[in-house]
Amino acid sequence: MGEQQLLAGKRALVTGGNTGIGAATAEALARAGARVMVDYVAAKDEADRLVASIAAAGGEAAAFAADVSNPTQVAALFAAVDDRWGGIDILVNNAGIEGRRAPLWEQDPATWRKVLDVNLFGAFLCAREAAARMVRQRAGVVVNVTSVHEVIAWSGYAAYDASKAALSMLTKTLAQEAAPFGVRVVAVAPGAIRTSINEQVWEDAAATADLRAKIPMGRLGAPDEVAAMIVMLASDAAAYVTGSTVFVDGGMTQYPAFMHGG
Ligand code: BGC
Repeated sequence: MGEQQLLAGKRALVTGGNTGIGAATAEALARAGARVMVDYVAAKDEADRLVASIAAAGGEAAAFAADVSNPTQVAALFAAVDDRWGGIDILVNNAGIEGRRAPLWEQDPATWRKVLDVNLFGAFLCAREAAARMVRQRAGVVVNVTSVHEVIAWSGYAAYDASKAALSMLTKTLAQEAAPFGVRVVAVAPGAIRTSINEQVWEDAAATADLRAKIPMGRLGAPDEVAAMIVMLASDAAAYVTGSTVFVDGGMTQYPAFMHGG
């Protein structure tokens, strides 16, 4: 029961689907009955391993290499989804990068542009392809993976913060545009989730203690905990939810400094 039935037969695409939150999401979507296209840009072996493990568990998945910030590659990615499954029901815009930590006045313009290209322009390109198909079929869900940094400023990462805040507004605007056509658009904002993106932090005891102090629940999250929310939002369990951001952050956005004093 439950998760098994939630997405039976749905056709899903997860960008950056070979690692971290993307990989956990691809597996969770498949467990919920969806067919999953795993987009990746590097580490083909990880994508292949994931596809094999989904198949071994009785699911259906395929992998396709495409840089989401490249319009030609995105067109090829959606053509591959069309060829294989004749369309798409769920897009998870998950691909994202942080860039290099530096105060804005020392930030290299190429890094800034790359972060915005992947996190925002890439999400736009994929949402554009997906929404065109979903509007035509009068059904579908786009889930954009943002971050607590769509609202929390993070020194050294202005490009990342700006990209995630913008992705949140893209979510709301597209939700408004697509609602009359039966298409929902939502955002999931993870907090500190233990993946390779923040490996340097959780591999360092002092940095981990500092990070945990920023989280009322006192622990990092697991990729599966984000994936479960994405599955639910992509399903009819969330049929009346659109334009919203759901924070999956152990309370990180609840001003943890106010747990004491004030
Ligand atoms: C970042 C992580 C960070 C977390 C909480 C995420 O968006 O990718 O590196 O640990 O936010 O600050």
